[in-house]
This record gives sequence, C-alpha cells and structure tokens, in this order.
Amino acid sequence: MNRLGHLGFSLLLLSPLLKFFPISYVLFAIALAMLPDIDLVLRVKHRKYTHNVTFALLIAVLSYVLLASFLLSILAFLSVLLHVIADLMTKQKFAPLYPFSQKKYALKLFRSDNKSVNYIVFLLGLISFMHFSNVEVSLDLIRFI
Ligand SMILES: [Zn+2]
Repeated sequence: MNRLGHLGFSLLLLSPLLKFFPISYVLFAIALAMLPDIDLVLRVKHRKYTHNVTFALLIAVLSYVLLASFLLSILAFLSVLLHVIADLMTKQKFAPLYPFSQKKYALKLFRSDNKSVNYIVFLLGLISFMHFSNVEVSLDLIRFI
C-alpha cells in the first residue's frame, strides 16, 4: 500500500480503540503503523528489515524502554504488524518472519500503488475515525450552519 492506504488501513482498524483509550494513544499507534516504510527513506532494501514480526517486536521493546508503558508497547507491536498485514495483501512478496524464515508471502490482491484501493481504504479509515471520535459533532454543526 502507499502512504494514504496505510493511513486509511490504520485509521480503519485502530479507530475503534478510541472507545477504550485516549486519542493520544490511538494517534501514537497510527503514527507507528506508518513506521515500516522508513526503509524507503533510509534506502535499505524495501520490505526486508522493517516489514516483519521481529521489527514489530523491536519497536515494542523500544516503546516500552522510552515510554515505560506496557499498553503502549503492545499498541506499538500491533501497529507495526498492521502495516505488515496491509502490505501482505499486495503483489510484492516479502518475508514477514525475517530473519527466522526467509520464506516470502503475498496475497496478491492488488498492486501497492493501486490508486482506487488506496483511496477507498483511506476513505473507509476516515469514516471509521469520524465514527469513533467526536467528529460527528462537527458534521452536525456543519449541517446546522
Ligand atoms: Zn510498507
């Protein structure tokens, strides 16, 4: 998925957490769901070192060390995993269990740069966020105006 798709996917699946956790926790999780694509910025092999369970665990441990919160470290782990799951749906194969397994997987449902899929997932994520946050109050206000 591209950046917009990942943002939408994480908004879609993490927004329900707004019922249980403060928005800062959910925004933290959404931000970390974008982290694996840092390999593009660092110019290391794409989807190798940052798109696997080991990286998710590393980020969880780092989160725990820096924030001293078991809950936030669990959220960090799940967020990175969400990114990996979203990318597994695309056509490009990669090893989600690296370095323990080199076996590459891909569900090949769509290309990661498929604009329609990325926009639709983003819109669904936005709707999910609006539903689970208090944004609907703002929409009521717009209707009133
Ligand atoms: Zn990615």
